[in-house]
Amino acid sequence: MNNIIIKNAEELVTCAGDGEVGIIEKGAVIIEDGIITAVGKTEEILPETITDIAPDKKRKSYRKALNINRKPARKVLHKSEGEYRVIDASGKVVLPGFIDSHTHFVFGGYRADEFNWRLQGMPYVEIMEQGGGIVNTVKATRQTDFSTLKELARKRLDSLLSFGVTTVEGKTGYGLNTETELKQLRVMKELDEEHSLEVVKTFLGAHAFPPEYAGNHDAYVEQVIEEQLPAVTEEGGVEFIDVFCDQGVFSIEQARKILQAGQRQGLEVKIHADEIAAVGAAELAAELGAVSAEHLLRISEKGIRGMADRGVTAVLLPLTAFSLKEEYAPARKLLEAGVRVAAGTDLNPGSCYSESIPLLIALLTLYMGLTPAEALRAITINAAAALNREDKIGSIEEGKQGDLVILDAPSYTHLSYHIGVNQVEKVIKKGQIIVA
Ligand SMILES: [Zn+2]
Repeated sequence: MNNIIIKNAEELVTCAGDGEVGIIEKGAVIIEDGIITAVGKTEEILPETITDIAPDKKRKSYRKALNINRKPARKVLHKSEGEYRVIDASGKVVLPGFIDSHTHFVFGGYRADEFNWRLQGMPYVEIMEQGGGIVNTVKATRQTDFSTLKELARKRLDSLLSFGVTTVEGKTGYGLNTETELKQLRVMKELDEEHSLEVVKTFLGAHAFPPEYAGNHDAYVEQVIEEQLPAVTEEGGVEFIDVFCDQGVFSIEQARKILQAGQRQGLEVKIHADEIAAVGAAELAAELGAVSAEHLLRISEKGIRGMADRGVTAVLLPLTAFSLKEEYAPARKLLEAGVRVAAGTDLNPGSCYSESIPLLIALLTLYMGLTPAEALRAITINAAAALNREDKIGSIEEGKQGDLVILDAPSYTHLSYHIGVNQVEKVIKKGQIIVA
């Protein structure tokens, strides 16, 4: 049953419109066949609540309601109330489903040793020398068989879902060869079909240089362009191409070459940009008309202006900065320059092994200076923009997908105020209750 009526919400937070969260008090929303068909105050769109009316009087009551109210729930007339699941959200908050716009959730192996070395103060360079870093996960992911990899990834989606995430972006990038990049992509494709969460797929063959190309990095760039990219686009389902463009990883020139090759294949651009040093990756994102640039811990003033001018969305990943004990990205500067700000978990086995939306919101508000409203928009409508899905998800508006979260809290501000606690009570995806 994909038809739901939610009524009497203490706050129905739509996230529709520019810069606001759009609170409707005593709000109601109707979802039919998975799509939102009415949004407003309960008394306006549900003048006589369905469950309160005796069956024989129902239609009459609606007709009466139609005459009185400007915004009647006209579509409700097409179906009997038995076909709707009615949820009374009294005292609760209804929000758009959360969107995690940056993860690496398909990986084999763990790096707890590396984490412990970091706790003891070992620098990242030394960790790499000890066999840590991305290549460690690459080795494990290559060795993990398809079904094991898929089951591990499924559990991570379950975990994200429990925090209210209804759409997730996932990247390849732990294969660094055609075979394993395709294996990661196929895991995401199958889970996108089977799991309630929607998975947006990004090709990140240029995540690191594989050990077999040590000392011959340009040859790896060619291999990504000539072999991996065609194989991945032929497999299908991929929407974005991403490159880790930073000091010690892919240079601006190498990144530009790979990303432009992706654009020629019809892929949209994302960039892991300026996390370690201000190398000009945000500027490259602006130059290429990227959909998003992510991390941005060391972004330059010029990079900020470029992103604002070209409408490149910033995806902030504060859980990673927190985990690495680095300074946070200049979120307020980005906002003040007019850059659209989204946020994601960056779930990965190395720099940030966390799918915690509550901790993400705590960091965005307490340490990066976002208001609770800005933090909420960062994981809803702005995250939808970072995934090119602003017309489908990210806000509670008529015509959008029925993806919602109900919090056991009286106000959305409790997302940041009730620190680090998961307040999600129900999750609805395309009109189906998937967490209850
Ligand atoms: Zn990442």
